[in-house]
Amino acid sequence: MAVFGIFGTETANVASSVYYGLYALQHRGQASCGIVVNDDGVFHVYKDSGLVNEVFTPNVLNALGLGQIAIGNVRYGTVDTKDRINAEPIVVNHNKGRMAISLDGKLVNGAELKREMELQGSIFHTGNDAEIISAVIIKERIQSSSIEEAVCKAVSRLKGAYSLLIMSPQKLIAVRDIQGMHPLCFGKRNDGEYVIASESCALNSVSANLIRDVKPGEIMVFTKDGIRSIEDHCGKVGERLCVFEYLYTARPDSVIADCSVHLARKRAGAMLAKAHPVEADVVIGAPDSGIDAAIGYAEESGIPYGLGLIKNKYIGRTFIDPGQNVREDKVRIKLNPVRETIEGKRVILVDDSIVRGTTCTRVVKLLRDAGAKEIHIRSSAPEFLNICYYGTDIGSKAELIACKYTTEEMAKIFGADSVGFLPIQDVFKLAESGKCKGYCAACFNGDYPTEIPQDTDNKYDYKISENKN
Ligand code: AMP
Repeated sequence: MAVFGIFGTETANVASSVYYGLYALQHRGQASCGIVVNDDGVFHVYKDSGLVNEVFTPNVLNALGLGQIAIGNVRYGTVDTKDRINAEPIVVNHNKGRMAISLDGKLVNGAELKREMELQGSIFHTGNDAEIISAVIIKERIQSSSIEEAVCKAVSRLKGAYSLLIMSPQKLIAVRDIQGMHPLCFGKRNDGEYVIASESCALNSVSANLIRDVKPGEIMVFTKDGIRSIEDHCGKVGERLCVFEYLYTARPDSVIADCSVHLARKRAGAMLAKAHPVEADVVIGAPDSGIDAAIGYAEESGIPYGLGLIKNKYIGRTFIDPGQNVREDKVRIKLNPVRETIEGKRVILVDDSIVRGTTCTRVVKLLRDAGAKEIHIRSSAPEFLNICYYGTDIGSKAELIACKYTTEEMAKIFGADSVGFLPIQDVFKLAESGKCKGYCAACFNGDYPTEIPQDTDNKYDYKISENKN
């Protein structure tokens, strides 16, 4: 999931800026997307399931019109919240005005808050935490003199990982959870507009210069009088940035906590080479997110890096599944080996992670068919052993292959000669050159930085089918 917002004082084509920002953040969510444009307090919204360029045709973008402030969102569908009804941003009218809200993250006390408010008469339409957060803010707004005061009170009630953008008729508010678990940064364009985004690559896409990350717990208020930072929630608990952002989630051209994601991945590859060396002829990366670590592995080991697998970049959600009996073709349509790099060689294949083991099994078969003599799989993430409660969709514990098998058994299952994972202690060193003071690596080591959800009533997981038309 990702958020993007723009704040200006002049009327401009803010919808188009948000479109390009969301386009740069598409890797963080492909299920649905949306944009809300604020033109002097009048909100124009469009959202739907689909990719940014499918949903926002030129006509749809034009219809959003001009404005001074806008926010957007891309979202991935978890099993229960894939429906179109969960698309964000969410727009609500309340007794003191209007508000739009866009979220990247997941609350661990969402079900609890929802139940509490439902017992007081609130009605919810989605299975979406953004709606719960908006209800908490609106409730606080009744007793508060400003939207930012209400947001500040609401933050005390929210537990979990979240980066939020909240738009009122005159303000844009950016909030990062108190442990800074998900990234959020802001920058400025030459024309004076402020831009806030989940990742810095999205700032670059609209020619904004990165100023800094929003601090853990910080509430930034952008108004026509400038920026105000509310730090009431800052520094009360330690920082716990999701380390998987560096390994997989973020784009390599982004910078998080003053550390380049590309360099962090290369460092992961280098540490992996030290931890699990093996004699080989070539190092290849699983496209796309294994490539940076493969380069790092190659540099550290002195084994040449080779272009071993080509991914068809044009396979989108509309890809027609060729069916069970041609499963092999399906893999080949998506991924094809470069025989010249592989044939007769001892190959080290670096991937960013092994979750269920599906990718490895398929790729090993492709590489064997292309004539690989030996195949050594190296994962630049440690073994996935625990569920993530903070918005990374990695399935249930029963599906995690590292929970069930040793590395030797995994090698057998994949048909590989060996398997090696990044040692857990190394994940805390991969962004050493940056400013982050602490990480969440709960999916690897089970050390959760928050309480974990207790209230898991199915009622919370809405499944509402909607006709597209
Ligand atoms: P698997 O095939 O189940 O072992 O998953 C590992 C592959 O999925 C790797 O190639 C990753 O790049 C990718 N991956 C890792 N985490 C996720 C995630 N949360 N959502 C989608 N893909 C992922």
